[in-house]
Amino acid sequence: KTSSNAIHLVLFPFPAQGHMIPLMQLGNVLAFKGLIITFVCAEHRVPLMQEAEYRGQYHPNLRIVTLPDAVPPGEHGVDEGTDSVTWSITGTQKMVDPFKILISDLIQSTNSDGGSSSSPPLGIISDYALSWTQDVADEFSIPRYIFFPSAASGLLFMFYVPTLVAKGQLPLSPSLGDDREAATKEESYIYVPGLPPVRKRDVSSAWQATSQQWLQRFSLRNAERLHEAAGILVNSFCALDADAIIALRSSLVNPKMVSVRTVGPLLPRVFFDNHTFSSCSPQDGTLEASQSRCLHWLDTQRTSSVIYISFGSIVLPSFAQIHELALGLEASKQPFVWVLRQPSSTASRYCSSPEQLSSLLPEGFQLRTEKQGLILSVWAPQLLILSHPSTAAFLTHCGWNSTLESVTRGLPMLGMPFFADQMMNCRMLVDQLQIAAEIPKGDDGLARRDAVSNAVTLVMGSAGEAMRQRAKELRDAAKQAVMDEHGCSHNNLTTFVDEIRKHAIYHAQLSP
Ligand code: UDP
Repeated sequence: KTSSNAIHLVLFPFPAQGHMIPLMQLGNVLAFKGLIITFVCAEHRVPLMQEAEYRGQYHPNLRIVTLPDAVPPGEHGVDEGTDSVTWSITGTQKMVDPFKILISDLIQSTNSDGGSSSSPPLGIISDYALSWTQDVADEFSIPRYIFFPSAASGLLFMFYVPTLVAKGQLPLSPSLGDDREAATKEESYIYVPGLPPVRKRDVSSAWQATSQQWLQRFSLRNAERLHEAAGILVNSFCALDADAIIALRSSLVNPKMVSVRTVGPLLPRVFFDNHTFSSCSPQDGTLEASQSRCLHWLDTQRTSSVIYISFGSIVLPSFAQIHELALGLEASKQPFVWVLRQPSSTASRYCSSPEQLSSLLPEGFQLRTEKQGLILSVWAPQLLILSHPSTAAFLTHCGWNSTLESVTRGLPMLGMPFFADQMMNCRMLVDQLQIAAEIPKGDDGLARRDAVSNAVTLVMGSAGEAMRQRAKELRDAAKQAVMDEHGCSHNNLTTFVDEIRKHAIYHAQLSP
């Protein structure tokens, strides 16, 4: 019979960094609680796993299984213009049959050897964007739990998407969605019970008038299938998303009362203690030379003086935006570390030579800012940079993981959102939590150099002091949520594991 310490779960992230890193972290926490975790990774995303692994020691109970997905753009004649989101969506659709075979094999191997090392999977935790895994879960009568890697407020919006589509409010119509003049008028907002009015221009790009129909169908399907899950685990915590969490318990948006539990921030445990993290994290030797150089450069800067700029793993700002940002940073005179990638979706996103890098930047910029800042053209050791005492603020695209990492470090933010949930996240940080300043964009979608330098001055000045204070309060709340035995995320995860254990006992009683 299945023993309680051999409960086996299959975790399946959407294959993008922002989804894989936190689910891997969840898998690790569950493995430390004695569960066996099979972590499914799309074959072409295996290199990305290194980042997830670098964040900490992984428990031997967590094992990684790779399944074939699609060929990345640029290889074997695949259109290089395919953006990584489209590629991931198409790629995961190729994983349906291999995933079924995997689940079937995991069940079969248990039946044949009966060993506790391969107890049958008792649950699947898969990303909300892999809604087809619900069919596989149903086929094998295994409960599917959804992993939601963004804010609870984003989940609340998503719960209400089918209603908004039925009412004809989504997708947005071209005339209203683009009308910035109408930004203060009633009709330029979307209303979701439990959320502050959402400006139409902040609604996810999937629902903007210009989005493609297949993406809308994909998004609607994911939203509809939230209701079929055995439960939802959200990478957030109660102090951050309090109102949305309450609203998610209302039958108005969640008529089937699917259980929603916040279990975040899903970050390495040592990260909650800055001192321990900085002293036991990978340093020289495990980091690439330019990553180490960046940390050494930070050592030479004044405490709380450096702006860290990164737009995550997907956003590639335009050439014009890179120029405006560069000139804005220069004008601010503030020290900076900037993670810069090429402005196109080519297979190699980092500049491969100093010449390529200079060609992206305004004439003479690198020479003029030689002492002021540092440009990183590799994957940044973001947790280490955010933990460095010289780092003062984070100029971010407001990706949810970056947001949580900044909050957990008590750092104020400068928001420059681009797409997906980033605009709504930015509004939450600016309006509700008041720990960020938005860098406003013009009608052409470009944030000008003045807007950049003004926002930097604001956050580094007295307004920033108030933001920093609130950010520190949230930092403490984040730590409490995860580390305290009465913390809400800690409790939620315990009750989730208890639920799975009860299911395991029930399952064991029914087995012949
Ligand atoms: N990240 C990093 N180094 C980089 C870029 C990103 O460590 O150079 C990490 C970052 O710390 C975060 C994740 O990748 O954990 C990005 O997730 P996020 O939700 O912020 O943005 P996305 O990439 O999904 O747009």
